[in-house]
Amino acid sequence: MKGLLSGKSCPIATHDVSVNLKNRNNAFKKFGYGPPNPNEANDAFWLKKAKMYNAPTSSIKNMRCGNCAAFIQTPSMMECIISGLEKDENEGELSYDENFVKAANLGYCDLFQFTCAAARTCDAWKSGGPITKEKP
Ligand code: SF4
Repeated sequence: MKGLLSGKSCPIATHDVSVNLKNRNNAFKKFGYGPPNPNEANDAFWLKKAKMYNAPTSSIKNMRCGNCAAFIQTPSMMECIISGLEKDENEGELSYDENFVKAANLGYCDLFQFTCAAARTCDAWKSGGPITKEKP
């Protein structure tokens, strides 16, 4: 792929659903990735995180993938995510991939290597994200 990527290749997980799900499920199982549906209250999920951090639930709820230092949303990574979704579509087929990416506010978790929704979190959250600028 040329253009924004200028000779660099996309992470495998952005173009291989099986690898992506394997890595994501690993984060679910081992690193408390979740909640499964961020639009629900998920009280037990947030309480568990609050206990782990020994901090109020209200603070923990602000620690999401969307502001984690491992959450990559650079233009080239977004191109990788969208082109990975588009690769199985036939020419001329209606595509909703960009809408899907925006609706889920997707990015790429560089730590666990999967496409990741901004509203979730995990036990390895680090402040300072998201990363939106390309490396110089
Ligand atoms: S490391 Fe950060 S971006 Fe990755 S799953 Fe955890 S909170 Fe989300």
